[in-house]
Formats: sequence, structure tokens, C-alpha cells
Amino acid sequence: MQYAPVIRVSRLPEIEVPTGDIAEADRSAEAARFGAAATAVATRLRDRAAHATGAASEVLAATATLAQDRAWLGAADKRIAAGAPAVRAVTEAVDQFVELFTQLGGLMAERVTDLRDIRDRVIAELSGLPEPGVPVPDVPSILCAEDLAPADTAGLDPQLVVGLVTTLGGPTSHTAIIARQLGIPCVVAVSGLGSVLAGAMVLLDGTAGTVTTDPDPSVAAAAVAAAQRDALAVRQWTGPGATADGHAVAILANVQDGAAARTARETPAEGVGLFRTELCFLNRDTEPTVEEQAAIYGEVLEAFAGAAADARSKKAKVVVRTLDAGSDKPLKFAGHPEEANPALGVRGIRIAEGNPGLLEHQLAAVAAAAKATGTEPWVMAPMIATAAEAKSFAAKVRSHGLTPGVMIEVPAAALLADKILEHVDFLSIGTNDLAQYTMAADRMSADLAALTDPWQPAVLALVGLAARAGAAAGKPVGVCGEAAADPLLAAVLVGLGVTSLSMAPAAIGAVGARVAQVTLQQCRAAAEAVLDTASAAEARGAAQAALT
Ligand code: PEP
Ligand code: MG
Repeated sequence: MQYAPVIRVSRLPEIEVPTGDIAEADRSAEAARFGAAATAVATRLRDRAAHATGAASEVLAATATLAQDRAWLGAADKRIAAGAPAVRAVTEAVDQFVELFTQLGGLMAERVTDLRDIRDRVIAELSGLPEPGVPVPDVPSILCAEDLAPADTAGLDPQLVVGLVTTLGGPTSHTAIIARQLGIPCVVAVSGLGSVLAGAMVLLDGTAGTVTTDPDPSVAAAAVAAAQRDALAVRQWTGPGATADGHAVAILANVQDGAAARTARETPAEGVGLFRTELCFLNRDTEPTVEEQAAIYGEVLEAFAGAAADARSKKAKVVVRTLDAGSDKPLKFAGHPEEANPALGVRGIRIAEGNPGLLEHQLAAVAAAAKATGTEPWVMAPMIATAAEAKSFAAKVRSHGLTPGVMIEVPAAALLADKILEHVDFLSIGTNDLAQYTMAADRMSADLAALTDPWQPAVLALVGLAARAGAAAGKPVGVCGEAAADPLLAAVLVGLGVTSLSMAPAAIGAVGARVAQVTLQQCRAAAEAVLDTASAAEARGAAQAALT
């Protein structure tokens, strides 16, 4: 809960694009001025990448690379050589590429926001104006924006930007995921923000996903005080994960690199429930070698090596997910085909069909990292749809001496979880994609955020089905989607039979503390009540009633 003044992203002021040409003698100086401005913008982004970690760093580095992309820089240079002043050359060159990217559609079209962002930064630099983007506030503030370029989100200082509200974007968009990883409460797809002026006070409840503008100050103060009491319980929770009556539920962290794993190690997390390996390679043109991969995976395994997580287990669990490339996380070296619907296309485990070497190399690298660190990681595949895929994946994983599991992200896999469990040792439910595919609603779409809400009873029914199959087979079933990071929903998941919860490190205390406050019986009653509802709102209400 945050009660703080609003700040807004500063836009580039309307600049008159000069129409006349510059003298021939001045053109090479103008080209140099342009080159210096583009380099300054790229350098600033790269500096920020160096100070960020994980996905945030990757995103900033990718934007810096685009700022130095020879194609659009060349197009601008050509215009300057023909007499255009730099500001006009930049505007026209970027327009040309925006049109091209938009026509190409799909992933290229998604880079249009980044390109426009770079254009505005370069024009500001050329015009001696402050860099557009997020201002640095004097006091902790809540940032309101239509949408944020991932590069802007990645660069936020959680001490000064204590909340983020956007009009666009879905709850599982990468902007929201990066914000959560930074520990910044984030509410997306909020309407009616346009009239809220910078400096106005707002109350943001990141857990409930609500924003109240200009609230009664005493009501806001009471809400903040209650949240502070909860925060104290969170700080005092030291793990291991268990309900009030001692039913064990492993509380694990989602990480994307060694740095994040080391951060997670500082929390009461008992291990890693999801290591998103594809995020290590977002801006790689070529496949990293087995040795390189082994070094990167080894860092994550090392962070939890020797961590006798608790009395229950001698070794901390680390679950490595094989590359979930495709859709909104393309990897240049994965050889994605052009597809009209990439989220329904060749992504995740499906890539291994046409490119088996990629999976083989990755498994060899995980096995090498395991050997080097003396650990026993579990390995799971994303986007499994059939028992046959699970069987084939499990055989490959076992041939490397590793423990196989699969993600349940496709409704077909949840429905046939019992058949899949004949081949693998564990399941991990990815509620982000499970919601997307169950509700036939793009997880990136702000308009469809109500459908991709993991509280949708249809999604929770599938979670329950997979958890029951796990219980019948005596095998663990975790949740590693964003649903596990919602403390109230986490208790419902426990009631549905889920055995571990994995989430961004920032959510671990809140979820662990909440689960510790309720009994298994209460969780089961909440799960039963939720499964009897017909909407996400009713499900939330039913859980609240059963758990308070
Ligand atoms: C999920 O789909 O819930 C999941 C954990 O995977 P990702 O968010 O990386 O697609
Ligand atoms: Mg997924």
C-alpha cells in the first residue's frame, strides 16, 4: 500500500521540425552532431544497463543496441547529406522504420515503441532539452504513465518510485514483471488516469490492484498503517513455508540469472522454483556454447548450493526451465519461423522438434553446472501440451542424470496431468500462460486483463485438477506463475493441493507470512468456495470470506 504524490513521464515538447535545408558546407558538422547525440543516448542506456541486473539489464542493453542500429542511423545520415537538419533527418528516418516495422508486424512491430523512445531521446539531445522519460522525484512518488518502455521500467529506482500505474499493459506484460522484480507495486490497465495531475495524492494497493485518486487522508493513513502492520509480519517471517498448523508448502523464488538468485538467497526462499533461462540470452545473436551456458547456470545453482533450506530437506531445490523462446521472448539463435500467431506457434518445447541440438546442448550445460556445483537441479520444459512431449523430454533429461518435470501452461496438459505424471517427477503450473490459453486472451493485452486474471475460476479449476493428479501420483505440483505472488490466492492454491509456490523474490515475505497465518483446513475451505464461483470477482470475495 502506498500513499504518495503522482509524477508523470515527461514527453518531448512539441518541436517544430525545420523545413528548410542546411548549407552544403555545414552538412558534415550536422552529421557529426547527430552521431554524437545518438552515441550519447546509447551510452546513457548502456550505463544504466551496467548498473541494472537480470532482465532489466538485458532490456536496457537491447534498447542501447537499437539506438546504435546502423540501418536507421544510415537512413538519417543520408538525409543529412541531402541537406536535412538533424532533427528532421531523425524524425523522417524513424518514421520510415516505424512504417516498415509496423508492416512487418509481430515482434518487429513491438519494437516501434522502443524506436520512438530513442527518436525522442536523440531529438532532446540535439535540442539541448532534458532527456524525456521518467523524472527523478525529490520524494517517494507514484509514477503514472500511459505505458512505459521496458527500458524506462528497468531504470526505475525503487526508493524513489514507490508505485507504478499504467493505462495500458496486462498484469503479466514484461513491464509489470520487471516492476515486480524491482519490488515496485504495479497496477496496470487503469482507466481514468488522464485527469490526475502531477503532485496529486493517490493511494495504490498493489495487492488488490486498485488505485484511489485523492482519497480521504485519514482513510488513506489507516490503510497505510494496516499495510505497515502486514509489512511487519512479512519482515518477521523467516520461513520455512508452512501453514499455521504446520502443513509444509515450499516457498521458492523465480530468478533470471545469478544476481537474482543471490538476491533470493537473502530472503527466506527455500530454493528456486523457476529459473527463466531464456532471459539470459535475449540479445544474443548466436547460441551460447555449452561451457558458457554451464557457467551462467552454475551461478544460479551456486547461490543455493549447500543451503540446507530447512530441517525437511538436505538440499535446496533449484528448478531450471529449458529455453522458453518464442512469442514475446524471441531468441535470435532459436530460428523462429515467421508466424501469424506466435503465442500459438513454435515456442517453448516445440522449438526442440526442429532444433533438437538446442535442447541437447542446454541439458548438457545444466548437467555440467550440476556436477561443478555438487547440486541436483530439477529441469522442466515449458509449453508441454501432450503426454508424448513429456515422455520424450523426460527421457532426454534422465539421460543427462537430471530430474525431469514439465510446466502446466496449456489446458490440454492440465486435463491430462495424470497421464503426463506417468513420465515426469514433478509439475509446475505456469498460471500466466495457463490463464492466457484457458481464456483465449492475450496476456499482453490491457483490454483483456480481466480475462487473464488468475482468479478466473476456470483457470483455478485446472490448477486443482493438476494438483489432484500430483497428489494421486505422490509427486509435487508447484505454481510458478504470477498467481503464486498474490498472498490471498497463494492460500487458495495451497487449498487446491499445490505443494510449492514460486515467485519474484520481492513477494516471498508477503506470501510466506500469509500462508503462515491460515490453517490447511481454512485453505481447503477457501479453495472449495472459489471453485463454486462463476467469476474472478466472486472468487476473490469467497476467498477473502473464507480466510479472514
Ligand atoms: C507462466 O506462464 O506462468 C510462467 C511462469 O512462464 P512465463 O511467465 O515465463 O511465460
Ligand atoms: Mg509461461
